[in-house]
Amino acid sequence: MAESRRFLQGATGDWELVIGLEVHAQVISEAKLFSGASTGFGAAPNSQVSLVDAAMPGMLPVINQQCVSQAVRTGLALGAAINLESVFDRKNYFYPDLPQGYQISQYTRPIVGKGEIVIDLEDGTSRKVGITRLHLEQDAGKSLHDQHPTKTFIDLNRSGIALMEIVSDPDMRSAEEAGAYVKKIRSILRYIGTCDGNMEQGSMRCDANVSVRKPGKPYGTRCEIKNLNSVRFLMRAIEYEAARQIEIIEDNGRIVQETRLFDSDRVETRSMRSKEEAHDYRYFPDPDLLPLRLKAEWVAKLKAELPELPDEKMIRFVEQYGLSADDASVLVSELDRADFFESLAKGRDPKQAANWVIGDLLGKLNKTGTELFAAKVQPEQLGKLLDLINEDTISGRIAKQVFEEMFETGKDAADVVKERGLDQISDEKALKGYIEQVLNANADKVAEYKVGKEKLLGFFMGQVMRATEGKANPKLVNKLLQSRLSKED
Ligand code: ADP
Ligand code: MG
Repeated sequence: MAESRRFLQGATGDWELVIGLEVHAQVISEAKLFSGASTGFGAAPNSQVSLVDAAMPGMLPVINQQCVSQAVRTGLALGAAINLESVFDRKNYFYPDLPQGYQISQYTRPIVGKGEIVIDLEDGTSRKVGITRLHLEQDAGKSLHDQHPTKTFIDLNRSGIALMEIVSDPDMRSAEEAGAYVKKIRSILRYIGTCDGNMEQGSMRCDANVSVRKPGKPYGTRCEIKNLNSVRFLMRAIEYEAARQIEIIEDNGRIVQETRLFDSDRVETRSMRSKEEAHDYRYFPDPDLLPLRLKAEWVAKLKAELPELPDEKMIRFVEQYGLSADDASVLVSELDRADFFESLAKGRDPKQAANWVIGDLLGKLNKTGTELFAAKVQPEQLGKLLDLINEDTISGRIAKQVFEEMFETGKDAADVVKERGLDQISDEKALKGYIEQVLNANADKVAEYKVGKEKLLGFFMGQVMRATEGKANPKLVNKLLQSRLSKED
């Protein structure tokens, strides 16, 4: 695996960035981690709160097997060790939206231990990033500060929903690597359906631990930037934070370990609080919950039932469809994209299908900010367009124009071709007419061609295509031109 390290330049020379990430992923489950209340998004405030979530005296938490199974499946997909015995602890702190006065989390004995994932970088190289651990914990409620001029309201709907906290080793060396890591984690979680990965809605959030050091030296003191809710903000925050730390150290200052917030409007990080030490939380095993014991056979069954993961799919795409690793990587990075490609490629040329999905469709989605599922062109529609090209009804160039209109209007490819009279000209007599026209207008070039300047064939081709507004059947024009030009006259 290639090294993609890049160093940051300071007044005193090279600096290396060191990044470790903590991803909080909301578990896909109908009920909360320790209660039967619903996890549905967007319900009226406090309509999904059980007595357990509201921390009424005497209420006892009961573990939800679905959440455990989701955490185990996630651990398996991250290539991580599953701990057959884990323990839930109380992490004590006060938040107005945490009525228990503590969060049930896992500390010394998490459900998932060490693992590793491969991240894919822009330049086509990849790198391994270690997973330190994954543990289960409860989410807190939400304080609403904008409902009343002088009061804060509390919504406990989110209180008690299961979160997986996925902690990485400090293995990333650039903002790009951190971004690629979050994208890969999100892709894996979506593939296996354990988290929807929706960062805008807050179902996936990320804290970045950032430090800098001189290459080869021990790790420096880190700062933690909290609650980054998009990959773009994560990368910006890391870049800002690294520059801030380098400047302080080069100014003979010292980095203080602390928690910082990212201000996305001003593109800077600001101090929030000095970092608490773990002992401040007075962690202790929750006496209401027994240690969680899993059966090895149950874990093995979950493992056997995991769907194909992105890395496996990528290898299959290269082998089965003959795609390049780069193309396969782009296609498998999102499950719906991979599925789109596979339905399109069915019974068609896979490379052509891949080019259309990656080049034309993804380009258009990006430009218009459209999600794939919402696109008016689905595999069936795009497939019909490719069929028109392959039947020589339209040329590849005309197909691009047809696609534009299909994407905007959702019209059928054949209808667009008919309405706009874009059918390919495959009538030999008509084409010969255009060829004569072009050759007559370029008698000098024809003479050059005949004394050996054969690359002019491309020029004549281009002229004929132009004369027909791109509608001529290129294969046929090529054939007709060659035979016409080889004739003595
Ligand atoms: P805490 O309990 O304070 O959150 P952890 O030991 O769990 O501390 O580490 C949290 C994250 O910080 C991990 O992702 C880890 O990889 C990262 N980390 C640890 N040391 C450094 C460092 N010197 N620079 C950058 N990241 C670091
Ligand atoms: Mg932490």
